[in-house]
Amino acid sequence: MLTLNALRFQIRVKWEPLASNVRMWEMSERLNLTGCSVNELIEFVGSFGEQAYRGRQIFAAIQHRRLKNFGEMTDVPKALRERLNALATVSTLTVESRYVSEDGTRRFLMKTQDNLPVETVFIPEEHRDTICFSSQSGCPLQCTFCLTAQLGLLRSLSAGEIVEQIIIALNDVYGVGVQPPRGTNLVGMGAGEPFLNFEELMKALRVMADPQGLFIVPNRVTVSTAGVVPRILELAEIPDRPHLAISLGAPTDKQRNELMPINKKWPLDELLAACKEFEKTLKAGEKFTFEYVLLDGVNDSDEHARQLANLLNRHDMHAKVNLIPHNPADPLPYRPSPAERVTQFQSILESKGVRSFVRRPRGRDIFAACGQLAARRETNPIPSNIDPVMAQVS
Ligand code: SAH
Repeated sequence: MLTLNALRFQIRVKWEPLASNVRMWEMSERLNLTGCSVNELIEFVGSFGEQAYRGRQIFAAIQHRRLKNFGEMTDVPKALRERLNALATVSTLTVESRYVSEDGTRRFLMKTQDNLPVETVFIPEEHRDTICFSSQSGCPLQCTFCLTAQLGLLRSLSAGEIVEQIIIALNDVYGVGVQPPRGTNLVGMGAGEPFLNFEELMKALRVMADPQGLFIVPNRVTVSTAGVVPRILELAEIPDRPHLAISLGAPTDKQRNELMPINKKWPLDELLAACKEFEKTLKAGEKFTFEYVLLDGVNDSDEHARQLANLLNRHDMHAKVNLIPHNPADPLPYRPSPAERVTQFQSILESKGVRSFVRRPRGRDIFAACGQLAARRETNPIPSNIDPVMAQVS
C-alpha cells in the first residue's frame, strides 16, 4: 500500500510530461483512502486542485456512509471520481468466507490484496456490539496456546486495512451505511500483536474516532498486548488512548517463558513495572485489565492462583483479572479448565484481594473465539453476498 508521501511523489511524477514507462507502472499501486484522516484527504485532493470540502465529502463517504467504491459517491463530480479511481482505492480487503455462530457471533475471513488472511469477529451483545479486529496477518509471537501463532507473521496491516475490517463488519450486519442501533466497541484482540504495529494501529484509531466518520472513540476501544514493554510506556504518555489489557497467561517467569516466549525479552518484573507506570496515568473511567487464559492442568492450580495474586500484589497492581477459559483448537495440546477449577481459582484470587471476572467464550463453534483465528475454513460458511437482513434472522 502506498503512503501519502509516496503518492504525493507519484502525483508529481504523473504530472511531469516526461514520465517514463517505469514510473507509470509504479502508478498501478493505489493509495488506500480508508486509512486517511480528513486532513490527509483534504491535502490529497488539494494536490490536484480540488477544494477542501471535497476532501471532507470523500471522508464522510468512506467513514460515515461506509461506501466501498468511488462510483457510489454520486455527490462527487464524475471527473473527480474517475481521477480518484485512477489514483486510489477504498476497498482492499475481500471477504472470502463468513461464518455465523449459534450465539450470533460472526467471523469474517478476508484476504488482503496480496492474498494474506485477515480475520475479524463481530460479537452482538445486549447493549452493544463488539468488533474484534486483527492488527497483523498471522502473528510473530509464539504463544503455545494460540492457534494464530501457527501462521507465523505474514505482515502487519496498514491503518486502512484495520479500519476497513470494521466497515466491512458493520455493513454486513446492518447494511451499507446504516447506523448501528447499539454502540460499537472495538477490541484489538484478533490476530497479531497490536503493539508490534503501533503506529498504524494508533492511526487507525484516530481515523475511527472522527465524529464525521465512524465516531468510535478511544474510550470504546480496548487493545490487548502480550507485553511489549516500550509501547506500554509510550501509551502511558498518550492522553487520548484506548483501554489497555495485558495478557499474562502464567504467574512465573519459568512458566511464562514456555507459554509466551515474549517473556524472555520482557520478563514479568519488567512487564509489571511498566504496568505500574501505566496505572499511575489512569484517568477516571479508564479500564486497565489483565488477561489470564486458563489451561486445564497447566496454569490453573491453587498454587498458580496464589502466585498470580502474589505477583500482582507485590507490584501493587489494582487492575482486575479477566479469566479466559481456553478455547480449544485441534492441533493445540490444551483443554479448558473445568468450571469448578475456574471457580476455585477465582476464589483464591478474591481471597487475596485480586478482583477477577470470568469471560464467557463467544463463537467457539465457528472458530471465532480468542486464540482460534488461523484462517480456518472447516465450518459451513454463509456466502458473503447474502442479504444482511436475512443473515440477521438466520
Ligand atoms: N497479541 C495480543 C492480542 C491477541 S490475543 C495479546 O496477546 O494480548 C487476545 C487474547 O486471547 C490474549 O489475552 C490471549 O492470551 C488470549 N488467547 C490466545 N489464545 C487463546 C485460546 N486458545 N483460548 C483463550 N484465549 C486465548
